[in-house]
Amino acid sequence: MPPLDAATLLMVIAVIDVVACVVWLALGEGLRIAPRAARRLSAYHGLCALAWWPALPESMERLVALPLDVISAGLLTAGVRGLTRVRYEAWDIVAIVAFGLVATAFTAGDPDLSTARAVSNIAGGALALMAAWDVAVGAGFRGRLTTVLVLPYGVLAAGCFWRTAGLLGWVPPGFNLAGLGANAPLAMLRLIVDLAIATGLVALVMQRLIARVRHLTRRDALTGLLNRRALEEHLARLQAKTERGRPNAVLVLDVDHFKRINDELGHAGGDAALQHLSRVLGETLRDTDCFGRLGGEEFAVLLPDTDLDGAMLVAERLRDLLQKQPLAWGDKLWPISASFGVATMRAGDSKGQDALTRADAAMYAAKARGRNRVLRAAGEAEFA
Ligand code: GH3
Ligand code: MG
Ligand code: MG
Repeated sequence: MPPLDAATLLMVIAVIDVVACVVWLALGEGLRIAPRAARRLSAYHGLCALAWWPALPESMERLVALPLDVISAGLLTAGVRGLTRVRYEAWDIVAIVAFGLVATAFTAGDPDLSTARAVSNIAGGALALMAAWDVAVGAGFRGRLTTVLVLPYGVLAAGCFWRTAGLLGWVPPGFNLAGLGANAPLAMLRLIVDLAIATGLVALVMQRLIARVRHLTRRDALTGLLNRRALEEHLARLQAKTERGRPNAVLVLDVDHFKRINDELGHAGGDAALQHLSRVLGETLRDTDCFGRLGGEEFAVLLPDTDLDGAMLVAERLRDLLQKQPLAWGDKLWPISASFGVATMRAGDSKGQDALTRADAAMYAAKARGRNRVLRAAGEAEFA
């Protein structure tokens, strides 16, 4: 079999780009997965396909091929940024693309294409480096995985800068990189890099989907708080710490006479009350505390590194805060209160759930004693 020539390889790259263009369009517009980033990546692959094949005559290079290169590199970097959600603004990308286009236009009178090609490669290299940085930040600098994801952008940038240096006569004659159209090994490398980039982008989108699913399965839809399943996971983790001698506490709260709120304000008003409570109490808790909804109008807060005294103080503060901040509904203010039960986690409990059960029982005892109060679980040391 004869070795593949550069033109054939560029055609293969173009076909892969067409497929990737359609796939991103389907992911973004059909499945609504990262639609903005998907649109940019689809456009990136579409422009690449146009730029690679059919091979444009050299007369079209300055006017079409080089600007397409710069714009597609900008779209790739913008797409990567959208996927990794590193940041939203893209002024730096726009600035580099604009530099590439304007500088290419300035070479219009020059019959030699070297300067125009060098400018386009400088812009492409800079954009590839920016994409590499965003991928590294987005993937969280996690060792080998990040290296694999970043590497193709690094190779792309190195290739662009090497070619620039050659075009500007900065490298010894034998070390010049010829353009892809006349350089089969380089076209092969480009094919590998493009495949690696396309695969890496799919990995990033998968990571994003997994994060979204994980978020959905761990959050309560109405309040956005942790749901029971997530609370149970945290409880199991805290129980392990409790076994190692760390103090951890749990509090359970239930809205008082919630049925009345529902009856008087309607179900939507009841829902608003639950959201109001989540916001008011959530704002005052530490980042390390786990605030979740057990179901209905019953909530739990897991307090790591907190003893009984500390947990009682937190519960009292929450109770006080809630009763001082009524719900604004219609043109009226509706007072809301809750009853709290507090329990510490104990070494030797069969599972973290046991403390939750004790706190729940204490909460019902608080209801029996007249509601809108905090009670520690039976068997807890006296509150000094
Ligand atoms: P207590 O002071 O004894 O806790 O009285 P309560 O009325 O709060 O007690 P109960 O547990 O009997 O009533 C809870 C009500 O909460 C019943 C249910 O219809 C309502 N509820 C449960 N989940 C939701 C929800 O997601 N939204 C709304 N609006 N109401 C809910
Ligand atoms: Mg209730
Ligand atoms: Mg209840």
